[in-house]
Amino acid sequence: MSSIPVIDLISGAGKDLIGACEEWGCFRIVNFQEILEDSLLREMKAVVRSLLDLPAAVKSRNRDVIAGSGYMAPSETNPHYEALGLFDMASPPDVQAFCSNLEATPYQSSETMGCRGVQLHTDSSFLTLLQDDEKFGGLEIMKRNGEFHAVEPCPGTLLVNLGDLATVWSNGKFLNVKHRVICKEVGIRVSIASFLLGPNDEKIVAPPELVDLEHPRMYVPFTFRELRNLRMSEKLHIGEALRYYLCK
Ligand code: MG
Repeated sequence: MSSIPVIDLISGAGKDLIGACEEWGCFRIVNFQEILEDSLLREMKAVVRSLLDLPAAVKSRNRDVIAGSGYMAPSETNPHYEALGLFDMASPPDVQAFCSNLEATPYQSSETMGCRGVQLHTDSSFLTLLQDDEKFGGLEIMKRNGEFHAVEPCPGTLLVNLGDLATVWSNGKFLNVKHRVICKEVGIRVSIASFLLGPNDEKIVAPPELVDLEHPRMYVPFTFRELRNLRMSEKLHIGEALRYYLCK
């Protein structure tokens, strides 16, 4: 069985990177320690875990900071999932308010954090940098052919998932990878997702070099805010929202 492409940040792999984005919509990066130390990743995990261990009443203070953000408690849909999200508008005052609501210590306030998963979805972002759980598997991505592929824990690496914006920006070449998390073992699973989003008020369009007679423009211009609102209001979490923006 083929496995998720691995991109080595030291040796570089430009061609492989484009292939990974087109075929898989995700890839694992290794040898990033020169720019991101393992100790920082471990510290982030510890902080996120300590914040999720706070009483529910405290965590709930960050509910609905913006739609779809803040604290997401276990729900009927995702009974084994909770998240503290600090997504867009993450300006310093927003981070400060988030930490203040949680009564976070100075140590806990040193990083932004967020985690999500569970039901099948695409990310609305351009790309998501995922620091997955080191012990518990359960993350599954859907390949282009519709098959699920289990992503096994791989400490010391980071996983990159491409989201809806990557598909739009690449004029449909890059895959917005569908993914979900399945509970396979009893235990607390902690992952941290950092989202590279898009401009809220500027139109997202594929650059001219990716548009030609053979590859006509696929999507009308729209803003990230419009995409997010559509996904939220119509509950279109599996990439279906992009159909609304297809060129006629
Ligand atoms: Mg996701």
